[in-house]
Amino acid sequence: MSRIVYLNGDYVAEEDAKISVFDRGFLFADGVYEVTSVIDHKILEWDGHCARLRRSLGELQMDSPATDAELLEIHRELVRRNDLEEGVIYLQVTRGAADRDFAFPEDATPTLVLFTQAKALVDTSAANAGLKVISVPDIRWGRRDIKTVQLLAPSLGKMAAKAQGCDDAWMVEDGFVTEGTSNNAYIVTQNGTLVTRQLSTALLHGITRASVLKMAAEAQIKIEERPFTIEEAKQAAEAFVTAASTFVAPVVEIDGQMLGDGTPGPISKRLREIYISESRKTAV
Ligand code: PLP
Repeated sequence: MSRIVYLNGDYVAEEDAKISVFDRGFLFADGVYEVTSVIDHKILEWDGHCARLRRSLGELQMDSPATDAELLEIHRELVRRNDLEEGVIYLQVTRGAADRDFAFPEDATPTLVLFTQAKALVDTSAANAGLKVISVPDIRWGRRDIKTVQLLAPSLGKMAAKAQGCDDAWMVEDGFVTEGTSNNAYIVTQNGTLVTRQLSTALLHGITRASVLKMAAEAQIKIEERPFTIEEAKQAAEAFVTAASTFVAPVVEIDGQMLGDGTPGPISKRLREIYISESRKTAV
């Protein structure tokens, strides 16, 4: 069944949504995006995603196509029109269409696209069985804190994982894990300390990460924000990833090394439960 998508002010059937071949998102990956999840027809973590979108636009001196209130209304209208009970909403802003030139055009109008993807988020095999990850070199550019649409390196990482019968890849730079291909990475040491890399330009500042760290602190879990190696991760008691579309997803194997008994660890499971119940409460 065809979805209703949003394109530059209009709600249209997906097959009627067309953009220019000169769009800079297409030619230069000159665009930013957000993925927001929906449970029970409600949008999770709205304020965080909206604030990060503003920051990404600002870092690239890109004009905003709509106000925060307008963007929320578009999200809600897409949920209504597509009767989205559970799934994600993808939003992309590009600098717009202009004759091909590396320099930014002076008068392009930003392109704004949103669409929904219905999918199970709460009851998933990733959550129940856990993920197997491999490590790959982090070959991305140096501003990973900006959520741009240049996702070829993460795509290659996922394909490498798939080729080895695994689910995802953790990217490694200078010997330390930066993050997962589309999520932030965590380990829980044998003495119960939660370790995740500190924020910098080397990784995306996950909206889920911020909430999960707050909830972990409230649950009296000891937290260390520092880099860790794949070797340390292989010796960990448990591991997990966070992202808007996966919440907290346990990792049960790293580069062929099973963690613990190979099933999702207790801290990962507990943080997943807390995250889902707390973010339902603040959904809009
Ligand atoms: N890191 C990367 C590279 C990502 O692509 C994502 C999400 O797409 C995340 C981390 C998690 O961010 P969030 O929790 O805001 O979804």
